[in-house]
Amino acid sequence: MKKLALIALGGNALLRGGQEGTIDEQEHNTTETLENLVFLLNEGYDLVITHGNGPQVGNILLRNEAGQQLYGIPRMPVDICVADSQGGIGYMIERMLRNVLIKHNIQKEIVTLVTMVEVKRDDPAFENPTKRIGQIYTKKEARALQVEKGWVFKEEVKKSGGWRRVVPSPRPIRISNEKVIESLARQGTIVIASGGGGIPVYHDENKVIRAAEVVIDKDLASSLLAARIGANEFYILTDVPYVFLDYKKKTERWVEFLNYKDTIKYLEAGQFSEGSMAPKIRACLQFIEQGGYKSVITEATLLDDRKYGTKITMDYED
Ligand code: ADP
Ligand code: MG
Repeated sequence: MKKLALIALGGNALLRGGQEGTIDEQEHNTTETLENLVFLLNEGYDLVITHGNGPQVGNILLRNEAGQQLYGIPRMPVDICVADSQGGIGYMIERMLRNVLIKHNIQKEIVTLVTMVEVKRDDPAFENPTKRIGQIYTKKEARALQVEKGWVFKEEVKKSGGWRRVVPSPRPIRISNEKVIESLARQGTIVIASGGGGIPVYHDENKVIRAAEVVIDKDLASSLLAARIGANEFYILTDVPYVFLDYKKKTERWVEFLNYKDTIKYLEAGQFSEGSMAPKIRACLQFIEQGGYKSVITEATLLDDRKYGTKITMDYED
């Protein structure tokens, strides 16, 4: 059987810090990132691609709010915003990738799937919403929305002040259509799926599928998908070429190889920041726990240079 790799494109693979977020910028960054995948195709890998949606869904939420305030267009819930972002970003990746394949004379089908990801209604994360989304409101506006919609708000810590909606971030437990994703990928089709961590849904007590007003971590959802489709390798593309120890300290050093035990030790010692590197490390560990051979964290445009990237495996010998 051919090797199967799942590539998770981080926010930075699509949109770099400090950029405005125009579609030209996103298309340019995406093409640069996708050029890196050509060597995997040339080595005969089948591919599944997932992606983040942080800046994009943030903008969708702001447009939502502006539409409500200017034109009275009803606000759409989080699941619809994520679905919109999967369609938009997925299409963009698909078109850029088709052009990269044409340039390299590679014949392959590419398909983008709008993907639901299931969470558990009794996940403890529902008790403690942490993920800040959407615009900053005044105290009065926040209170009105709390009454009208039951949204939960937290005060901004930055000196600009104001209030922001917070939603839970429960663990993904199932990716819909995982069998379809696997069989398409094994037939040689490149599948783009589970964008932005997936459209969050849960089953209620009557087994009805309902939308959840939550945000699912894209690295964890990607790792779950990678394990479920039996991927051999799981790549997280972000804006650092390696995982560092003592990050941003005088003793900072990068690591190229990590085994499972050491990675857990460093995670427990707080070497990886919550909200950025720690969820990526957990996603990498989850993948190899579930039988994956290798997880790699690297910079989005450096994947095809194998000397870059931190490789995490169960045991590292070499
Ligand atoms: P993305 O948006 O691409 O998914 P994030 O911004 O969430 O990525 O996470 C990548 C960031 O993690 C890096 O830019 C870096 O600042 C931060 N980071 C925190 N701890 C570490 C560490 N130990 N080694 C490397 N990067 C780290
Ligand atoms: Mg980021």
